[in-house]
Amino acid sequence: MFGLKKKDSKPEVPNIIVEGGDFKCFIHGFGTSDINEWDKHCIETKHTVSGETLCADCGHKVYFENKPFRGVGKVPIVFCDKCRGGEH
Ligand SMILES: [Zn+2]
Ligand SMILES: [Zn+2]
Repeated sequence: MFGLKKKDSKPEVPNIIVEGGDFKCFIHGFGTSDINEWDKHCIETKHTVSGETLCADCGHKVYFENKPFRGVGKVPIVFCDKCRGGEH
């Protein structure tokens, strides 16, 4: 034996380099700066999030689902039905 020590298992880091773009997907090796392209990728590949947040306009609690993923810990900007409907 050469005394090789096995380090405690680290979380696996994806080995894919994604070139360019503000938005990157390390699962599919996809990168883009175009938010529309990114949204399309997310919808097509089901990188979507669901949850609840506050309406970006009036601050009411709103539920959202199947919104494109925008980064770890980032919540999509959503509006409540009222604000989306433009009634104020
Ligand atoms: Zn992807
Ligand atoms: Zn609102």
